[in-house]
Amino acid sequence: MVKTDVLIVGAGPVGLFAVQQLGLIGLKTEVIDNLDKIGGQCIELYPDKPIYDIPALPECTGESLTKNLLEQIKPFKINFHLSQRVEEVIKENNNWKITTSKKKIFLAPNIIIAGGVGSFEPRKFSVERADVFENKSIFYSIKDKNIFKNKKVSIFGGGDSALDWAIELSKFAEITLIHRRNEFRGIESSATKVKKLEKERKLKIKTPFEFNSIEGKEKLNAIIIKKETGETEKIPTDYVLGFFGLIMKLGPIAEWGLNLEKKTIPVNTENFQTNKEGIFAIGDICSYPGKLRLIVSGFHEAALAARACFKLARPNEKYRFEFTTTSKSMQERLGIKKK
Ligand SMILES: Cc1cc2nc3c(=O)[nH]c(=O)nc-3n(C[C@H](O)[C@H](O)[C@H](O)COP(=O)(O)OP(=O)(O)OC[C@H]3O[C@@H](n4cnc5c(N)ncnc54)[C@H](O)[C@@H]3O)c2cc1C
Repeated sequence: MVKTDVLIVGAGPVGLFAVQQLGLIGLKTEVIDNLDKIGGQCIELYPDKPIYDIPALPECTGESLTKNLLEQIKPFKINFHLSQRVEEVIKENNNWKITTSKKKIFLAPNIIIAGGVGSFEPRKFSVERADVFENKSIFYSIKDKNIFKNKKVSIFGGGDSALDWAIELSKFAEITLIHRRNEFRGIESSATKVKKLEKERKLKIKTPFEFNSIEGKEKLNAIIIKKETGETEKIPTDYVLGFFGLIMKLGPIAEWGLNLEKKTIPVNTENFQTNKEGIFAIGDICSYPGKLRLIVSGFHEAALAARACFKLARPNEKYRFEFTTTSKSMQERLGIKKK
């Protein structure tokens, strides 16, 4: 069990800035995110796109903003618990007991929910027994491409991820790329490349086909794909990869007994606390009159929620407002050496 002052749900830009605000006032934090990477929407949805409205940064990208936020919290040596969703939140005496999908347990007097629009989850296959083979022979993301070496891999999807992985894995695996339409959605250069690889017999393309069924009892050994006309084909397969994009789900947050309003969590604007003492909501997931779903608004919300967390984490101490410019303790926490 991990004990901490504040548990942050969500490693998007707002969750990351909350780490900085909490660290400055001397509170310990742990951060959990369902994704396998840090940065929330900025990294998952628009890493290369320019952002023009972050104060004092005339232009940055989703990726560079995340990098800078991480640089800013480096002194606090934060533990990130990635690829796991916060599933359960229950009150235990003066603390919240938080359990993740990987069964990690945290105990904290404060939770800051910076969950954006909910957790990003891959769209999954709806064929029978796809769930049984998930993370064994069926994957929706790739952690270690080496497992596919010299294997028969069927890749579903017509977007950039499907095309990029078909190109990459065709270097050392037997690839069949399957898409329900004849045209691919991914960038033209990748679509041209897969067609070139098909001509060179380095991969196979099957369109317009959809996943119909799985063959194999203990071990998946083939799949059946089907056209709208009813025509079917059997593809010998060791691994199936599905790249159909992500869906955003509020998920278990809806079951923590918090007031909800159109998939957002109403908060008061004094400290961004929800209807539960010690549970705060900031960033895209919170709502209040006039709320703007902008990163800059989330930063302000993080600053106020962090100060409110102090009260429950240090009930016997008085919070003192300080500026980073002049506060010795804040500068010490930042590891700044005196000149
Ligand atoms: C294409 C695009 C362009 C944009 N451009 C701008 C712009 O120019 N300027 C601007 O200010 N804003 C812009 N935005 C909006 C901005 O990205 C969001 O306001 C911002 O990302 C919100 O940050 P957040 O930290 O609240 O949430 P998010 O970035 O959504 O991060 C939330 C994180 O919480 C995780 N999570 C949720 N539930 C759980 C759970 N139960 N357990 C574990 N993890 C969980 C999610 O996986 C996610 O990583 C843009 C958005 C998009 C889509």
